[in-house]
Amino acid sequence: MEDCIFCKIVNREIGTPLLYEDEEVVAFRDINPVAPDHILIIPRKHIRSVADSTEEEELIMGKLFGAARKIAKAQGFQENGFRLVVNTGADGGQTVFHLHMHLLAGRALGWPPG
Ligand code: 5GP
Ligand code: ZN
Repeated sequence: MEDCIFCKIVNREIGTPLLYEDEEVVAFRDINPVAPDHILIIPRKHIRSVADSTEEEELIMGKLFGAARKIAKAQGFQENGFRLVVNTGADGGQTVFHLHMHLLAGRALGWPPG
């Protein structure tokens, strides 16, 4: 997946500082934040999207939630709350086709989103 920007971050070909990493997941700050804290949590494995994922990948996708919990705790987001978002496909607003979970925190977020 040599043209995938997130694979390049996983492989450390781009020096984006990592906020969190474990065997299956890495997390880093979004380059264009839409909240005071905007973190992307991604699997090391290149999975295009939730829609393209397989049953075998469900465990890895679950790890994204586990990482979100740990990051939220470490960053102190638990008290005020936070939002997790996984944009999927064109109508979902997905622009990078390496599955990622947005973690948004630091302000009250409106609902429904635009
Ligand atoms: P999507 O719209 O696919 O759900 O979200 C992709 C996100 O990746 C966007 O919020 C965008 O700002 C972020 N992004 C795109 N390229 C880079 C990059 O090279 N580095 C970082 N840190 N974030 C990126
Ligand atoms: Zn990738």
